Amino acid sequence: MNKKYDVIVVGAGNAGLSAALGVALGGLSVLVLEKNSVPGGSATSFVRGRFEFEASLHELASVGTEDAPGSVRRLFSKYGLDIDWQYEKNAFRVIADGPDGYDATMPTGVSDFADEMERLCPGSRDSVLSAFDMAEKISKGFDYLGKGKPDPAVLFSEHRDFLCAVSHSADECLDALGMPKKAQNIMKTYWPYLGTGTDEIDFAHYMSMVDSYIRRRPALPRLRSHELSLAFEKAIRDLGGEIIYNCPVTKILVENGKAYGVTAGGEDILCDYVVANCWPDTAYGALIEKEQAPEKALRLQNARTPASLFFTVYLGLNRTSEELGIKDYSVFLYNGADSLKQYRDCNSLDTCFMIANCLNCAIPDSSPEGTSTIFITTMFSDEAWGEVSPKDYKKRKNAMADRLISLYEEKLGISIKPYIEEIVIAAPPTFARYLSTPGGTPYGYEMKRWDRMLTRIMSADSERFTERLYFVGAAGERGDGYSSTYANGASCASKILREVSKNGKN
Ligand SMILES: Cc1cc2nc3c(=O)[nH]c(=O)nc-3n(C[C@H](O)[C@H](O)[C@H](O)COP(=O)(O)OP(=O)(O)OC[C@H]3O[C@@H](n4cnc5c(N)ncnc54)[C@H](O)[C@@H]3O)c2cc1C
Repeated sequence: MNKKYDVIVVGAGNAGLSAALGVALGGLSVLVLEKNSVPGGSATSFVRGRFEFEASLHELASVGTEDAPGSVRRLFSKYGLDIDWQYEKNAFRVIADGPDGYDATMPTGVSDFADEMERLCPGSRDSVLSAFDMAEKISKGFDYLGKGKPDPAVLFSEHRDFLCAVSHSADECLDALGMPKKAQNIMKTYWPYLGTGTDEIDFAHYMSMVDSYIRRRPALPRLRSHELSLAFEKAIRDLGGEIIYNCPVTKILVENGKAYGVTAGGEDILCDYVVANCWPDTAYGALIEKEQAPEKALRLQNARTPASLFFTVYLGLNRTSEELGIKDYSVFLYNGADSLKQYRDCNSLDTCFMIANCLNCAIPDSSPEGTSTIFITTMFSDEAWGEVSPKDYKKRKNAMADRLISLYEEKLGISIKPYIEEIVIAAPPTFARYLSTPGGTPYGYEMKRWDRMLTRIMSADSERFTERLYFVGAAGERGDGYSSTYANGASCASKILREVSKNGKN
């Protein structure tokens, strides 16, 4: 391949696609190389028998409506992507066992949410409303960050509450707001979506996610997340961008500390900028020549911890959700009410929580007539999953799936086993094979106290150890999730376009 590109994107996950479309819209030539046969990474679907399963998306944050668009909708409209959005009426149902337990179904809409919380936990309303007020200030802070390199003086003078929220944990801020413990626990239901304990994740990050689900409602593309990835693919190609599937990048070419191309299919392909939707661990550990891997980059990746590993069971059932008695799209099932205990329980394979989703409750015709689908997800720490030896893998994987299904039946009082027509189990190695992430985590590095979103955004430039090489994705500045990875890709595209307009094309 003799052609040289302005930008080559390694990997067509959410962030890679978003970066590719962003630079293509800015007039740059772009080539996306993806090792799998379809776009999207986690954002995909797969077919077994007569069912098409959503692979990952429980719910998308920050979509909003046409009248009150969230950041994802605004970005998609800038990108010219037209998605058939569906919305969930309720935010979630959560069932926590134990003496402090509860079974709560929380509605969307800030005032309805606060009313229901007041009913469940008398005396909680003011603190709940204060948390949502804070969320509005947090949102302004994030909007400011999205405008480019933030100026600390402006942050201090105009976004004080935001700074407070980014420098304190969710636990600290909910305590400071005087929220009763039970209400705090219900507010913290979403913690698995960020995969970090609520004593570590900053309030700004956590609360902006909660706010976006409650205020703007959880959104789903009608045709599963594959619809999103295909819309990106089409838009990139319409602008002359190229995408090649089944094409793993085996090298990122770097000389004198500057990236200048990649090797794929045995050929070197040259470019001005490389955008890596693979992890820094993969890039510096396997794709870049050792002598071109700066020590600082290796030290930083060693200091960071890959986030939780996923285990998901996908079920195709030969009964409708009504016949089975399933009423909720999204149910969180916890052992105990304390979110930190729930998080720590992930260190063992025995006491896990579960999130169960029945897509038919949100999109009734998402499976053939007379059927329904459920997917049940849990998480483990790397150490917990490390207990499983290759010899025991199959047995442990099947036993885990069986346990999750039995727990679902027991906790919800719904029988599903007799109606299973298709079952697919994705264990951490399944995700690792498909995504090429450490241990298979789809969540990037855990957002620790020293390594939160604001710190990452502020130090992004000083963490670029190789010239002309950008990293995007869940392991990047904004962490995991669809909305974060789309935003991360878009911000990378803006940076490249700014660099090109300053320095000109090579
Ligand atoms: C079961 C599950 C449920 C989830 N639920 C939600 C949810 O409800 N809401 C939400 O917002 N988020 C959810 N997430 C998280 C979300 O899906 C991810 O955080 C996000 O999609 C990650 O995007 P990414 O850009 O980092 O790319 P990834 O999805 O990690 O994709 C990276 C791509 O790069 C490719 N690649 C890697 N190396 C190479 C190479 N050398 N050459 C070529 N290609 C390469 C991979 O094949 C892959 O396609 C969930 C994830 C899972 C797995």
